[in-house]
Amino acid sequence: MFFYMPVHVYSEPYCITRHADALARLGKRALIVTGASSAKRNGSLQDTVQALEEKGVTWCLFDQVEENPSTDTVMKARDFGLSEQADFVIGIGGGSPMDAAKAIALMMQHPAEDASYMEDKEKDSGRLPLALIPTTCGTGSEVTAVSVLTRKATSHKSSIPHRIFADLAFLDGRYLQMASPSILANTTMDTFAHLVESYINTASTLYVRAIIDQGLSLWRKNKDIVLRQRQATEEDFFTMLNASMCGGMAIAHTGTTVPHGLSYALTLKANMPHGKACGYFMKGYLDEASKEDRNHILSLAGFKDTDDFLAYYRATCGMETIATDILESSIQDVLKTPAKLAAVPYTMNESVLRRIVF
Ligand code: NAP
Ligand code: FE
Repeated sequence: MFFYMPVHVYSEPYCITRHADALARLGKRALIVTGASSAKRNGSLQDTVQALEEKGVTWCLFDQVEENPSTDTVMKARDFGLSEQADFVIGIGGGSPMDAAKAIALMMQHPAEDASYMEDKEKDSGRLPLALIPTTCGTGSEVTAVSVLTRKATSHKSSIPHRIFADLAFLDGRYLQMASPSILANTTMDTFAHLVESYINTASTLYVRAIIDQGLSLWRKNKDIVLRQRQATEEDFFTMLNASMCGGMAIAHTGTTVPHGLSYALTLKANMPHGKACGYFMKGYLDEASKEDRNHILSLAGFKDTDDFLAYYRATCGMETIATDILESSIQDVLKTPAKLAAVPYTMNESVLRRIVF
């Protein structure tokens, strides 16, 4: 068995300012990478700047990362970071800025290369020092080696082949306080998808399953908050971040499988947020699994059966009907990724995919 998780993680209130030394050891001038606005409003950018300035580290800001970030944005940020002579990268935000920051740190390390470098699995994954600060509770990107990017020219979204773990991650639940109910619903559904897809996975191991079981138990504690039956406390936001990190550590070892593979067309063609798009296929994926696996997951997550899960999904994420041609393209996407099919421990072929999707 194999287990590898090289990211130093600090998880406590004010951890960025409390551990400013660790951040400052990464370099002398930071390129901070964020989305358009949330990091400026939720306190994460302010804490980061305060920590850097206390330690005499200078910084510059690239705040143009869009949702489902593109390789074009990565190249634009890379050029900006090089022109500013930044020597390390800090990604703050949901999965989009964190994934972009990984690829930016990679491309800054290879200044003479063009965007094709991000498609070439033979090329090395050397990168500038990197810190990540999650402000949503779904992707676990702060502890995965994956950067999921959109190629605008082909309307295609997938992980780049490079393996990019961060040096540092800072988890502070205070940043989730202003996340809307729909952001919490969509991103906690992404966490659930990571935990399920990693459990029902040919690469799942004893170590990974220990983390998944812990993640599902934590995830269950937030359901009433996501259902808007209870207000979240600061501790609850930490529980959400910790569940998300468990999902990240799990998929860092197993990868995701069919629901993630099917989800990308819904995000790109129907504009559906990532976690909600993965959750769309989750009842079908669980229904096809072995009874033992299904019951294990459902009981830890606090669902009676997969209909109970579906009711929760509809109540929290909503339920849109997706056009048949988009669902057909989801199936074609997955059929083109044999690794995702092979990761499923039960029979997986086009007819099973059709049962999951329709
Ligand atoms: P996201 O695309 O990063 O952000 C979604 C929205 O949430 C943005 O409008 C963002 O605003 C806002 N937001 C972020 N933090 C907030 C906060 N604390 N309060 C209020 N609003 C906030 O969403 P995500 O679901 O976290 O990430 C999805 C991406 O991650 C997808 O591209 C997906 O494919 C990828 N992903 C990666 C991995 C991995 O292992 N690397 C795993 C799963 C998914 P701003 O734009 O203003 O910041
Ligand atoms: Fe995901």
